[in-house]
Amino acid sequence: QTRKIGFIGLGNMGAPMAANLAKAGCAVTGFDTAVTAAEGVTMAETAAAAAKGADVVITMLPNGQILRAVAAEVLPAMAEGTLLLDCSTVEVESARAVADLASARGILCVDAPVSGGIGGAAAGTLTFMAGGSEAGFRTAEPLFEIMGQKAVHCGGPGAGQAAKICNNMILGATMIATCEAFALADKLGLDRQKMFDVVSTSSGYSWSMNAYCPAPGIGPQSPADNGYQPGFAAELMLKDLGLSQQAAEAVDADTPMGARAFELYRRFVEEEDGRGKDFSAMLPRFATRRRE
Ligand code: NAD
Repeated sequence: QTRKIGFIGLGNMGAPMAANLAKAGCAVTGFDTAVTAAEGVTMAETAAAAAKGADVVITMLPNGQILRAVAAEVLPAMAEGTLLLDCSTVEVESARAVADLASARGILCVDAPVSGGIGGAAAGTLTFMAGGSEAGFRTAEPLFEIMGQKAVHCGGPGAGQAAKICNNMILGATMIATCEAFALADKLGLDRQKMFDVVSTSSGYSWSMNAYCPAPGIGPQSPADNGYQPGFAAELMLKDLGLSQQAAEAVDADTPMGARAFELYRRFVEEEDGRGKDFSAMLPRFATRRRE
């Protein structure tokens, strides 16, 4: 039968995800505090109204505080045995708090942040990293298949968020390492293309170098070839690095590279000219700086 989906948060990511669900035949009712129309979505007046009668309520919201507020509003409107599927990137703590609220009402809950960005959301090729019960994951799986190309069940509540922030902590650090190495290579008189040819096939390779090369005109097409228009904006990387540092503090984990990456992106976004640029624009930043 037709799946009834409530979709809360129809921004850059949520709108194309909801459109793909609608295209696949789901009946999607949506709510957003700012967006008033979205492809394939019947808009409701409130979050609770969008959630009422839904088999699954999906949230794609800016942060954990907003997620908690929305969850408190939609859970009472949802029927027992239905699923709350949060795809936002939020603190592990918020994910677990929302899972507790849901479970107290007999509602399944899965945290499933995504990787793949706006392009992946539009193409339906996102990767989902999911945390929650086996039953919750199984219920979400057909939707993951519509909106994405891969879903990993990482563990219990919060495990999806944990995987996401660990992944992005590595990504932030390797992007910085790749950019500072290019800047060093420049000053050593090493051609950028040669640098790419060596590193992309040597032990310094990473997704940052091989798939998203921060140097324009080199490697595969990336935001560097488009004036560093995001892509994945530096401020979103800053958000995710902040979440990983918050989590590290909460569990007393030593993450010096993550902490340094957070500080560099914080300066880039808040004190330099990084806001609105792709996170790989760290390369021109390093290339134009002197040693501190
Ligand atoms: P966005 O700001 O474009 O969308 C968020 C939407 O939520 C907005 O339309 C906003 O109006 C709406 N909203 C805010 N408060 C609300 C409320 N109380 N009720 C209903 N709607 C509300 O952000 P986005 O880029 O779509 O990102 C959404 C989430 O996905 C974030 O957690 C982000 O970290 C994560 N994410 C984004 C990307 C990316 O490349 N953009 C990639 C991976 C993960």
